[in-house]
Amino acid sequence: MKTIKDLNIGQSGRITSVGGEGALRQHILDMGLIPGVDISVIKYAPMGDPVELRVHGYELTLRLEDAAKIEVVPIDSIKEEKKVSIKEKKHPGLGEEDVFKPRKERKASEHQERLTFALVGNQNSGKTTLFNQLTGSSQHVGNFPGVTVDKKEGIIRGYSYAHITDLPGIYSLSPYSSEEIVSRNYVMSKPNAIINIVDAMNIERNLYLTMQLLEMDIPIVVALNMMDEVKNNGGYIDINTLEAELGVPVVPISAAKNEGVDELIKHAIHVAKYQEIPQRVDFCDKNDHNGAVHRCLHGVRHLIEDHAKSAHIPVRFAASKLIEGDKLIEEALQLDDNEKETIDHIVLQMEKERGLDKNASIADMRFGFIMKVCKKAVVKPHISKEHLRSESIDRILTGKYTAIPVFILIMMMVFYLTFNVIGAFFQDLLAKGVAHVSSLVDAWMISAHVNPVVHGLVIDGIFEGVGSVLSFLPIIVTLFFFLSLLEDSGYIARVAFVMDKLLRKMGLSGRSIVPMLIGFGCTVPAVMSTRTLPSERDRRMTILLTPFMSCSAKMPIYAFFASAFFKSYSAIVMAGLYLLGIIMAIIMSLVFKDTLFKGEAVPFVMELPNYRMPGVKNVAQLLWEKSKDFIQRAFTVIFMATVLIWFMKSFDIHFNMVQESHQSILSMISGWLVPVFAPLGLADWRIVTSLVSGFMAKESVVSTMQVLFSGMKIDSVLTTASAASLLVFSLLYTPCVAAIASIKRELGARWAIGVVLWQCVIAWVVSFVIYVIVNLI
Ligand code: GDP
Ligand code: MG
Repeated sequence: MKTIKDLNIGQSGRITSVGGEGALRQHILDMGLIPGVDISVIKYAPMGDPVELRVHGYELTLRLEDAAKIEVVPIDSIKEEKKVSIKEKKHPGLGEEDVFKPRKERKASEHQERLTFALVGNQNSGKTTLFNQLTGSSQHVGNFPGVTVDKKEGIIRGYSYAHITDLPGIYSLSPYSSEEIVSRNYVMSKPNAIINIVDAMNIERNLYLTMQLLEMDIPIVVALNMMDEVKNNGGYIDINTLEAELGVPVVPISAAKNEGVDELIKHAIHVAKYQEIPQRVDFCDKNDHNGAVHRCLHGVRHLIEDHAKSAHIPVRFAASKLIEGDKLIEEALQLDDNEKETIDHIVLQMEKERGLDKNASIADMRFGFIMKVCKKAVVKPHISKEHLRSESIDRILTGKYTAIPVFILIMMMVFYLTFNVIGAFFQDLLAKGVAHVSSLVDAWMISAHVNPVVHGLVIDGIFEGVGSVLSFLPIIVTLFFFLSLLEDSGYIARVAFVMDKLLRKMGLSGRSIVPMLIGFGCTVPAVMSTRTLPSERDRRMTILLTPFMSCSAKMPIYAFFASAFFKSYSAIVMAGLYLLGIIMAIIMSLVFKDTLFKGEAVPFVMELPNYRMPGVKNVAQLLWEKSKDFIQRAFTVIFMATVLIWFMKSFDIHFNMVQESHQSILSMISGWLVPVFAPLGLADWRIVTSLVSGFMAKESVVSTMQVLFSGMKIDSVLTTASAASLLVFSLLYTPCVAAIASIKRELGARWAIGVVLWQCVIAWVVSFVIYVIVNLI
């Protein structure tokens, strides 16, 4: 028997069975890879894995390992569906402007104080774009309780009582990644209504989620997005038929062009106010394969009706999830053993009659219905301009020989522009601004004879510290600017596709490459950018690895010591340090993979969307969020840390202000630490003090040393071996306060403290080894 793995590039096949098990298999089915469906192989990633497929008119990536579990029979080509001609008509119906047909369930609960809406849809369906159109500027970002998944909430413009939450993109209501669990839980918590955004260019796959949402007994309005593209490419969708078949209002919109959004809002408010639940939940066909699935679903449904009611779970939803073997629902329903057994028998009988296992049968039933509806209501657009353009761009960006060089080139460009041109320019500007204000305040304080302690605190503590932290801001904003361009255009998905095989070896998936690369610039945005990773496990592991990517602020340390101690080898030494960081990260990942983070990296079933022009509004919104987030942190955690360090630097143990730096609390602590550093060949309180000050910002290591040694030659206290160990220690020891604050925000205080200790221990051990080795040479 052949599997997808055996197909050549360009070859097509019809799926005969889908192997594997559990959540991953369910996910593969949910993405439309179901027995009977035709697929074709488009290309392999440059490293030979994963593979890119075309199914249901969209592109999907799959690891070879998973592809090998899907059996196919080769066919000549994907069957061209006969173009049906549907008489085009205007769209008056449930979605008709201003006229709402009364429905049976209508309860006039006119005076709702607060309406809650959930915005639910597939990834890349235009959710963020629509959310921004719906809310204008009234939105805020938080965290879902207990997990670090962005929670965006806003108020629908014009309706101050209508609160809308943008949920992470999902393809089905079977929980799979942590983000999907968040989305499902939110939907199950019964918002007043759901706005289900559907990508009309990909209507078959998108309606799969809709079908499950319809089972939830919650008022829904379907927002049929990307209608501009459908129209431009000769497609047509008969909205009335779609509404009649789905039993909910459908509003054609273009989120990007802001067309139809007003009508969508009216309908959303209407269905929520009058609690108009979907008119139809029953989509199984009596005649399909003798009604095997139909009878099973209804049988189970009746059996669990009372349980579903007392558990407050919509009964049809509970029935289909139960058949799919959903453990969470099974527990919530509290069935007794007899009932469980009866259900098992019903399901077994269905599997026998249908000739497919339970998960495939249910998925097939849903897709079967969708295909029927689409036949009646949808004239497929011809292959779109956007798609052809994407294909030709992909020939280079994911091409066998070009993908990796182009990727390296793009990342170098981004770094160059961020750290040398744009970011640097604004950083300089900001630094000058802060210095100017600082000197003004300084002059004013001196003329007003302000107490020297307060003076010191304001000028040397606050301005110095917050200034140095704020200087990160331009870099972060610029980096995120480029990153959101890459993400929004669809390139990041390709990077993940290209890099997956490599990262897989480290127990991660291709998506983790981006945060790690950003880590070479600055750990702060790197940690912040891990939010786009689809699994909590991958996210944590990636965050713990980013500090090993030597950040740009350590560059001056390397440059200073490499040129002083290794003269003509300095370039090699510097390159070696970067390499050592990467090697350490790889070693760590291998250790983590089998200890702290057992289990699988996210399976790599991912859509490759068409390349698109990034939306200005989306990018601007993201930059604003990131800056706000960072500034908030700068003025809380980082601010406190700054003041603390200033205090320890300026006072002695009796809380008197110090004249000489070696009397301060800081140098006293460093003094205690000297014995710890002695085995590394760094038994000098000034060096230790500089390293401690590096906790503030790595930039300050060299400058602190210069102040403390003032004029004295550093060579006098360091040998070549101890310089080597100092360099390695600087590479590996704790990230700076700003980075730790980011880690704390993402993973919590315990992890953040853990990182500080862990990195210091690793740094000490590796430096010691290096010190011993260099001494031997
Ligand atoms: P999300 O992943 O669901 O949040 O999707 P986004 O809002 O990020 O949108 C994905 C891409 O589709 C972006 O590049 C948008 O500019 C684009 N997009 C969104 N809505 C429309 C639309 O109505 N028409 C067209 N042509 N493009 C759109
Ligand atoms: Mg989005």
